[in-house]
Amino acid sequence: MELALMSNPETHQFQAEIQQLLNIVIHSLYTDKEIFVRELVSNAADACEKLRFHLASGKPVHQSEVAPAITVTTDDQAGTITITDTGLGMTHGELVENLGTIAHSGTKAFLKQLAEDKKPDVGLIGQFGVGFYSAFMVAKKVTVLSRSYAPDEQGWQWTSEGMGGYELVPAADLPRGTKITLELKDDAKEFAQADATERIIQRYSSFVPFPIELNAKRLNTVQAIWARSKNEIKEEEYNEFYTFVGHDHEKPLYRLHFSADAPLAIQALLFVPERNFETLGMGRIDSEVNLYCRKVLIQAKAKGLFPEWLRFLKGVVDSEDLPLNISRETMQDTSLMQKLNKVLTGRFLKFLDEQAGKDPDSYDKFYQEYQRFLKEGVVTDFTHKEALGKLLRFESSTLDKGKVTSLADYVKRMPSDQKEIYCLLAPNRAAAEASPYYEVFRDRKFEVLFLYDAWDEFVTDHLHTFDGKPLKLAEKAELNVNEAKKDGALSEDAAKALAIWLKESLGEKVGTVRPSQRLVDSPAVVVDADKFMTANMRRMMKAMKKDAGEDEPVKLDLEINPAHPIITRLDAMRQKDAALAASVAEQVLDNARVAAGLIEDPRSMLIRLNQLLERVLSKE
Ligand code: ADP
Ligand code: MG
Repeated sequence: MELALMSNPETHQFQAEIQQLLNIVIHSLYTDKEIFVRELVSNAADACEKLRFHLASGKPVHQSEVAPAITVTTDDQAGTITITDTGLGMTHGELVENLGTIAHSGTKAFLKQLAEDKKPDVGLIGQFGVGFYSAFMVAKKVTVLSRSYAPDEQGWQWTSEGMGGYELVPAADLPRGTKITLELKDDAKEFAQADATERIIQRYSSFVPFPIELNAKRLNTVQAIWARSKNEIKEEEYNEFYTFVGHDHEKPLYRLHFSADAPLAIQALLFVPERNFETLGMGRIDSEVNLYCRKVLIQAKAKGLFPEWLRFLKGVVDSEDLPLNISRETMQDTSLMQKLNKVLTGRFLKFLDEQAGKDPDSYDKFYQEYQRFLKEGVVTDFTHKEALGKLLRFESSTLDKGKVTSLADYVKRMPSDQKEIYCLLAPNRAAAEASPYYEVFRDRKFEVLFLYDAWDEFVTDHLHTFDGKPLKLAEKAELNVNEAKKDGALSEDAAKALAIWLKESLGEKVGTVRPSQRLVDSPAVVVDADKFMTANMRRMMKAMKKDAGEDEPVKLDLEINPAHPIITRLDAMRQKDAALAASVAEQVLDNARVAAGLIEDPRSMLIRLNQLLERVLSKE
């Protein structure tokens, strides 16, 4: 301080716009006060980066033997925090220029808005480069000591208490770089605590590429490997990084490391964990992708960076196009965020598709774990439906049990007379193959996809088409078996007459009864009378309305197979023994409902079944 006495301090006023800015910074209740640490450390890192550039270009540099680095010290007795760097420093002219006038178009834009609107949204302030001035959110006095890298310069001390302007005096014997000391306001004394400050630096500045020490303790030890080129990075480095960002001790299932220049500058390193934590009974998970701008954290677990259905992703996205000072509150709905989201999601889906092609086994594993997320995407996200459709996998009637196909491969196998992609909902393979709905496909030799997941119906519904081909549920398919007159089959008229009798006999239990064109081996099948309703959907609706008490009467149509022995003999029986025939008719209906998965408790039909058995046995 004695130096200040040697010469009269120069006093300067801040540029009018800076005054306005300070007024807002100082008087608005900014929710994220701690970001001043991030801003000052970032400025220090920028200064180090610029110095490194000068060193590399062979310019003469004062104290060239001193490596660029950052030191933070806290003093809770004095209530101060100090950020020091051995970066390029500032000359007198630069101090005046950089810390007293507006260098940013962003700041100008903010002030323009101020001029137009008397009460600006203070939440927006973060969007417009506050940077250095954020120090005044927490400090009553800021002292900057700086010595430029240029050999024939000297040191300067810059001090300011905010609104009143600043003073400049020469300062002798300063090392190269900049030292900024903040005398904290009473309500910001927590930043003089080592613990609090350490947490903030770890949070925002873990990947700053210059050493950061806090009170002589080295803080940042993990490298920002996402910014390095892929072929320089070892597998162990990736895994170590994943452990750090993913908080997961297992190795990741997938890793995507990419960079793009257009339409946005992006560097991303994304991981898919080995296991889906949501199915491990841990409830809904949150995305753990952190958003950085040039290695400085903008937002941890950035909301809106990816769609909800990709919430299993972990890792880092770094984009130079983000304003560093963006605030968390305003981040979510910027159009920049939407653009990032679109680009990143598209890239990740492309990656999955490539993996599926390259290594189907590991894709299978991924699919087993994460298919529900992809399906959620199909149902909720119109933008990426096409790309998601390509990623779905199903068992199929033409493949062995356990093998799956993509829709694209299915379409390739479709014969020219097949216009639709057929899907059969069933609890498992055996049930699918035994399903009466499957018979017509087997007969016509059309491939059918077997869908075992209760969500699949919604998926096919939302996907609607793939590659221009409609997806059709088997029970809704309008297909007839090949015309081949079977011996002993009922004539058309006889079948119609039987159908009328059945409707009379079964009464309200069925909608209409009609001869079927789709059955080969089964005597009968139920078809939902509602064109848009399926057995699966009914089951799910029923499960949702568990406590609703009374079941709604379900309107099912019954289709009968005129060539099946049970049906032909039933026709004969109704002339001879109407009571027995009525009982058989009810059993035929119940059996068809069992096949459709619509009878939850088959015990309800045991009494009738036992009576029928008794009748059969007593005949002998
Ligand atoms: P930005 O960092 O976005 O340029 P700031 O308000 O944070 O905006 O800083 C304004 C300017 O002050 C910087 O561009 C830089 O030229 C200068 N500056 C701030 N801190 C330092 C530092 N530690 N060393 C050298 N120059 C600095
Ligand atoms: Mg800055």
